[in-house]
Amino acid sequence: MMVYDKPNHSYYLFGSAIVIASSAIILWLEPIRIFFLSILYLCIFIPLHLNFSQILGFDRYVFYQDVLIVCFLLGVGFTANLLINYWRFEEYRSKIRLRITVGKLLKINQKIHDLSRIDSMTELYNRRHLLEQFDLYKKRAKRESFSIGLVILDLDRLKVINDQYGHKQGDLAIQAFGKTLKTRVRSTDIAARIGGDEFCILVSPADKAGLETLTESIREKIEVLRIPIFNQAGDSIQITVSIGATLFSSEEDPSFDELYHRIDTALYESKNAGRNRITILPPFERQT
Ligand code: GH3
Ligand code: MG
Repeated sequence: MMVYDKPNHSYYLFGSAIVIASSAIILWLEPIRIFFLSILYLCIFIPLHLNFSQILGFDRYVFYQDVLIVCFLLGVGFTANLLINYWRFEEYRSKIRLRITVGKLLKINQKIHDLSRIDSMTELYNRRHLLEQFDLYKKRAKRESFSIGLVILDLDRLKVINDQYGHKQGDLAIQAFGKTLKTRVRSTDIAARIGGDEFCILVSPADKAGLETLTESIREKIEVLRIPIFNQAGDSIQITVSIGATLFSSEEDPSFDELYHRIDTALYESKNAGRNRITILPPFERQT
């Protein structure tokens, strides 16, 4: 108090009010803190100011004027603080909204990606994904020197089922086949529906014995499968599948079409031999 200039004490009052108002703006304190700080300030400094005013000869109008100026300064600080916090809050909310929107977009993007590679009827992969994976598998097989197996499966006499029980029953047969196929392949294999009742499995890595075991297990599993007839409760139908397959090493580097045409002859053999059969061709070798 020694250095306190009593005659000009109102300047101390305004100065400190300006400090509080500036802190409210610069320090970005929460509005509730600024509010209580301002009230505390008024509770301490107004009585002090009144005390000094009385010592120096009290002038009521000057005192009220000073209090009004101080309240105005604190009010400006508080209002500015409110606005700043409102903008910050809005900015925070827009960031949250943006994060939610980006999350939703990523999910939609994933869904579109899934739809573009999945066959909607069987939930197996579609032809496009199989062809993409075929190239990738060949590259990996070349790097790691292993053989790949390609299996083509075609349901036997699906047309008869369609004609006898209706198209819907044919669809159910395709779906039941797809479901069974899914349970027989490994996670590293690619099982796809490549046409109406035609399916394909990319088996990697594969050898002749493995290919025989896999195709035989699928054939057997389908043979014993009973598919309920949708409009005849208690009745069911049976389906069978004909299979053609071959192996190839990455050194031969065959295209999918080359392999497919070759396996098609194996499938034709299986069909011709009475269906519900497997024909495995010797490994693919390019004719020179
Ligand atoms: P095969 O033993 O020679 O294979 O006889 P198939 O009757 O199965 O004849 P094929 O494989 O040559 O033709 C497939 C038939 O499957 C043709 C069509 O009637 C039927 N089909 C193709 N796609 C669908 C489908 O999505 N749903 C249904 N219900 N039937 C289909
Ligand atoms: Mg068929």
